[in-house]
Amino acid sequence: MLIDRHHRVADYLRIAVTDRCNLRCTYCMPEQGIQYVPREEVLSWEELLRISRIFADLGISKVRITGGEPLLRRDIMFFIQGLAEISGINKINLTTNGTVTEKYLDDLWKYGVRTINLSLDTLDKAKFKKITRRDEFDTVIRCFGRMIKMGFRVKINCVVMSGVNDDEIESFVRLTENLPVSVRFIEEMPFNGEGKEEGHLEWSYIKILQHIKDKFEAVEKLEDPQNSTAYNYTVKDYKGSFGVIAAYSRTFCGSCNRIRLTPQGSIKTCLYDSGIFNIKQLLRAGATDQELAFAIQEAVSGKAKDGFQAELLRSNGKPVSESMSTIGG
Ligand code: SAM
Ligand code: SF4
Repeated sequence: MLIDRHHRVADYLRIAVTDRCNLRCTYCMPEQGIQYVPREEVLSWEELLRISRIFADLGISKVRITGGEPLLRRDIMFFIQGLAEISGINKINLTTNGTVTEKYLDDLWKYGVRTINLSLDTLDKAKFKKITRRDEFDTVIRCFGRMIKMGFRVKINCVVMSGVNDDEIESFVRLTENLPVSVRFIEEMPFNGEGKEEGHLEWSYIKILQHIKDKFEAVEKLEDPQNSTAYNYTVKDYKGSFGVIAAYSRTFCGSCNRIRLTPQGSIKTCLYDSGIFNIKQLLRAGATDQELAFAIQEAVSGKAKDGFQAELLRSNGKPVSESMSTIGG
C-alpha cells in the first residue's frame, strides 16, 4: 500500500499522457508560444504500462487518463486496452475536451471505461469559441449527446470565470433537470501557463454554492463518495446532480488519495507541488521494478500535508503558473 506520513492511502493515479492539445482554453494555456515536451521525452506506451503495473502492485486501483487532450495521442486505445488488462486496476476514467472523442466511444466502452469527465464551460457557441479559442462547440455537444445515449456516466467540468461564464451557472444546473449528468463547478486555479493575467479568485466554491441556493429553492445535499473532491448536491426531483470543487481553496487535501504522473515522467504527490522525482530517468537508467516501487513509496510517504504546504515547498520557490495541460487537472 502507498501511505503517506499523514496516514492517507493513495489508490488513485492520474496519468497525463500528453501535454498537446487542439484547444487553447484561456484558463489553461496561452494562445501562442507553447513549448511542447519533445516526443522523446514523453513516456512511451510500454513505459507507461510498466509504471502502471508497478503502481497497481502498490495498491492503485483507479486510473484517470488525461492530458493535454489524451485522445490526440496516437494509439491511445493500445494503452487503454493494456491498462484494462492489469490486475488490480478496476476503474479507468477519462477526462476529455470532447473534440475528437466520439469516434473512440465504442472502444472506450469495450475496455471498461464508464465514467467520462467532459470539459464544457459554456452552453453558448460563440462564447465557447472565445474561451477555447477554437470553433468546436457543435462537435463537443454532439459527442456529449452520444455519451449520454450510450449510457456513460458523464461529469461536466465547468471552470467558473468571472465575467465570462458566471451568468451560466443557473443554466448548467437546469441542464441536470432532465439529463442524468453531474455538472461540477470548478474554482479557477492559476495553472494557465501565464496565458492569462493574474487574477484573484472571485468565484469561490462558497460563492458558487450560495449563488445556486439563491436561484433554486430545493437544493439537497448528496452523500459525497469517499475521497471526493466535489461537494455534491441535487435539486429536488432533478435527474442529475451538481458539485462544487474547491480546487483553489484546497479544502479536500485531508482525504487526498491521488498521485499524478506527467507526460515526461514527473511524479507529483500534490497538484501544487513541482514534481517529487522523475520516474522516467530512473527507468531509462535501468532501474528494476523493485527499485522503481521503492522510489514511488518514498515519494508518497513524504507527501505534503496540503496544497498550501506543497506550493510553499516548490523547488523553484515560485507559486504555480504552469499550464494545466502539463499536469492533467
Ligand atoms: N484536455 C482535457 C480536458 O480539457 O478535459 C483534459 C485535460 S484538462 C487540463 C483537465 C481539466 O483541467 C479540465 O476539466 C479543465 O477544465 C481543467 N483545468 C484546466 N486549467 C484549469 C485551471 N486553470 N483552473 C481550473 N481547472 C482547470
Ligand atoms: Fe486543452 Fe483541456 Fe487545457 Fe482546454 S483545458 S486547453 S482542452 S488541455
